[in-house]
Amino acid sequence: MTDHTFDLVVLGGGSGGYAAALRAAELGKTVAIVEKDKLGGTCLHRGCIPTKALLHAAEVADTTRDAASIGVRASFEGVDPDGVRAYRENIVAKKFAGLQGLIKARGITVIAGEGRLEAGPAVRVGDDLYRGTDVVLATGSYSRTLPGLEIGGRVLTSEHALDLSEIPERVVILGGGVIGVEFASVWRSFGVDVTIVEALPHLAPSEDLALSKGLERAFRKRGIAYSLGVRFQSVSQTADAVTVTLEDGKTLEADYLLVAVGRGPSTAGLGFEEAGVTLDRGFVVTDDRLRTGVANVWAVGDIVPGLQLAHRGFQQGIFVAEEIAGLSPVVVPDVYIPKVTYSHPELASVGLTQAQAESAHGADAVVAYEYNLAGNGKSEILGTSGIVKVVRVVDGPVVGVHLIGDRVGELIAEGQLAVVWEAHPEDIAPFIHAHPTQSEALGEAFLALAGKPLHTV
Ligand SMILES: Cc1cc2nc3c(=O)[nH]c(=O)nc-3n(C[C@H](O)[C@H](O)[C@H](O)COP(=O)(O)OP(=O)(O)OC[C@H]3O[C@@H](n4cnc5c(N)ncnc54)[C@H](O)[C@@H]3O)c2cc1C
Repeated sequence: MTDHTFDLVVLGGGSGGYAAALRAAELGKTVAIVEKDKLGGTCLHRGCIPTKALLHAAEVADTTRDAASIGVRASFEGVDPDGVRAYRENIVAKKFAGLQGLIKARGITVIAGEGRLEAGPAVRVGDDLYRGTDVVLATGSYSRTLPGLEIGGRVLTSEHALDLSEIPERVVILGGGVIGVEFASVWRSFGVDVTIVEALPHLAPSEDLALSKGLERAFRKRGIAYSLGVRFQSVSQTADAVTVTLEDGKTLEADYLLVAVGRGPSTAGLGFEEAGVTLDRGFVVTDDRLRTGVANVWAVGDIVPGLQLAHRGFQQGIFVAEEIAGLSPVVVPDVYIPKVTYSHPELASVGLTQAQAESAHGADAVVAYEYNLAGNGKSEILGTSGIVKVVRVVDGPVVGVHLIGDRVGELIAEGQLAVVWEAHPEDIAPFIHAHPTQSEALGEAFLALAGKPLHTV
């Protein structure tokens, strides 16, 4: 058995883990990352990046199909699954090479293998023990399923869906959250018959109701079917098809069932509890400074209860590295983390929904303004509809920004600054937006809330 010693040992090289490693190395620490698969984790290899490449291919397919409507002659001949895969894999490969180069340039040691937490703190990989003054747990998450719903054959997770070598004719998607909605959008653009089944009353159920309803309208127009407020009961499959039965007795036939009901924490069997780390339904319990109950053991990313997003992992990784270095970084609560669903149309939000703001501040103390993208020149040019919704406290700050429409994900950074800096619409309304841009829609909402609407009555 060999002992190795570092200032910081990170278990898991995904978004949260590698961000902690990069920042710690920048701060002069000796750092090791233990990774059993590939640096970059879910986001780079099976999540954010490959799905967004698929969504871009889907956008190009839609644009080509509709080219005649803007006077451009083009013929849409179909989607080549091998070509889309090559495009996607090439992007992932480039980003992977870039990340490996960065890790090397910062002098971080990468240990290939499956690690297990031990008291000390330390991480064991086979016969080797990697001791750290501090250890960061960042083992990520896996696709969950429901009791009695076995994955396999024609019942897929998002990982299998990405690996499909064909474009199916019909799919049923269980779950109308972000992953279900994004795959529904891609497949529909590729010509697939899509039905989403969601147990809660709306698609994108964690978003402001105005966004959920807008998405439902847009998907209906695109021919994406959905059953809301109904639970899955059972599934059976043959060599050629799946039959999904819902609790209301309805049955749906398809080539595949995609199970997109959320992600569970990858923490089982890794020695966490034996080393004294407290788990709650598999998630690592931390305080707001991401300390587990065990001295010098920290946790970041999807294993920490809350939003499971890559950029939250980045933020937490940076935070922990700075905390270890004694820099006392500021705690960023989940409500300040922006969220984007990259479907057609996109959803983007930050801060409180109107309902959350009303329950926090009282219904009379909150005012919301919706600006329709129909009034926005750039959105008209792009052929997208949607809304910008800004929620503020009466005579007080902006507390929530909620957007729906193609490309609105790019606008949420400004919404985040407004919410996090507790800006009052009166203060930011004078900072005019470039014309014609979609960002003007956000400016129009701030102007209206400041009592001086420009292009609305
Ligand atoms: C289809 C899909 C699309 C997504 N799209 C987006 C998006 O657009 N934007 C966004 O912000 N988020 C998106 N996400 C979520 C995002 O991928 C995760 O929030 C993010 O990857 C979490 O980072 P993490 O570091 O916690 O875990 P992970 O990225 O899962 O990394 C954990 C790493 O730990 C390694 N590991 C686990 N156990 C061990 C062990 N015992 N020993 C050694 N190594 C181990 C794993 O191999 C993995 O590399 C998406 C997820 C999916 C599935």
